[in-house]
Amino acid sequence: MTTGLIATSYLEIGQIGSLDIRVPVVTIGTGEPRLAVLCGVHGDETASLAISRIFVREMLGRSLKGSVSIITAANPFAQSTGTRVGLMDFYDLNRSGLGKPKGTFTERLAYQLCEYLSQVSFVVDLHEFKMNTPIMAIYLPHEDRAIDRRSLKGIRAFSPAIVWALNFSVPNEIQYSGTLLAALAKKGVPGFAVETSQLVVLSPQEIQKAAEGLIEVAKCVGVIDAMPANASPPAFHRTPIYSDSAGIWIPTAPLMSEVQKGDKIGELVALDLLKQTNVVAPLDGRLIQLRSNALVHTGTSLFSIGVEEASITDRIRSA
Ligand SMILES: [Zn+2]
Repeated sequence: MTTGLIATSYLEIGQIGSLDIRVPVVTIGTGEPRLAVLCGVHGDETASLAISRIFVREMLGRSLKGSVSIITAANPFAQSTGTRVGLMDFYDLNRSGLGKPKGTFTERLAYQLCEYLSQVSFVVDLHEFKMNTPIMAIYLPHEDRAIDRRSLKGIRAFSPAIVWALNFSVPNEIQYSGTLLAALAKKGVPGFAVETSQLVVLSPQEIQKAAEGLIEVAKCVGVIDAMPANASPPAFHRTPIYSDSAGIWIPTAPLMSEVQKGDKIGELVALDLLKQTNVVAPLDGRLIQLRSNALVHTGTSLFSIGVEEASITDRIRSA
C-alpha cells in the first residue's frame, strides 16, 4: 500500500520547429493494478483537467494498492493552440486508431499513447461536447466478452447520468471504431469515454460528481480496496441533429426533456435578423444534448435525441 506518492514523467513524441513535444503523465502510487485517465485528446477540451485536479486531491489522501496515471495533455500541441486537432497535420488523434510508429506526427502520438496505455488495467478517456450534456459515459461494444464486461462494470461504478451506447451498424457512428479506446480494446485494455459540457458551463457540483465517479472506477479496478458504486444509468442510442442553415440558434426546450416527433426544440433566426424558423424533433426520445445560444452554420450540431435501449440498460445493470 502507498499513500501520497506522486510523480510526473513524460512520453517524448518529437519536435515541431524548435519545440520539443512531450506528453506529461502524473502518477499516484506504484505498480498494479493501473488505472489511466486521459485528458485533452482533443486540445480544446479542458474540463478533464478540472475533474482530474479534484480526483488527484482525493486520491492523495488514500491508501492505494496500485497506481493511477493521469495523462494531463494527451495532445500537447493541440492543447497549446487550443484546437481540437494538431495544426501540423490536422489528423484527429481520436480517429487515428493504434497510430503508426513512422507515420504523421499525430499517428506517432497515437502510437506512443497506445503503447503506453496497453500496459494499464483500465482507461477512462475524458472529453467534452460543444453541446450541453449531463455527465455521460460512452460505451463501445466489444467482441471480447471479458473486456466488454469489465468496461460495463467500470461504467456502472462511474455512475454517469446517462450512457451513450455506440452503434457501429449506423453509418454516422462507424467513425468511432477508430477511437483510441476502440484500438486499446483490441489490445485487451477495457475502458470507456466520458463526455461533459464544456468547462465554462460545467458546475462545481458536476466537476465533483465526475471526480467522485473516477474514485469509484479506481475501486472497481482494484486500486482502492473498497466496493465500488453500483449505479444503473439508462443507455441511449443517439441521433445528432444539425442545422440546415446559418443563423442565431436559440434553444427553447429543456435539456433531458422527453420530446415527441414534431416538438419544437428551438428557433433559428436568419442573419437578416427577421426570418425565424422553428427547429423540431425529427423523432421521439429524450433531449440528451442541447447547444446553448450560438451563431451556427449549416451543419452545426444543435441537439441530440437519445432513444433508450432497454437491452443495453439491462446489460449494464447485470454486468
Ligand atoms: Zn473530444
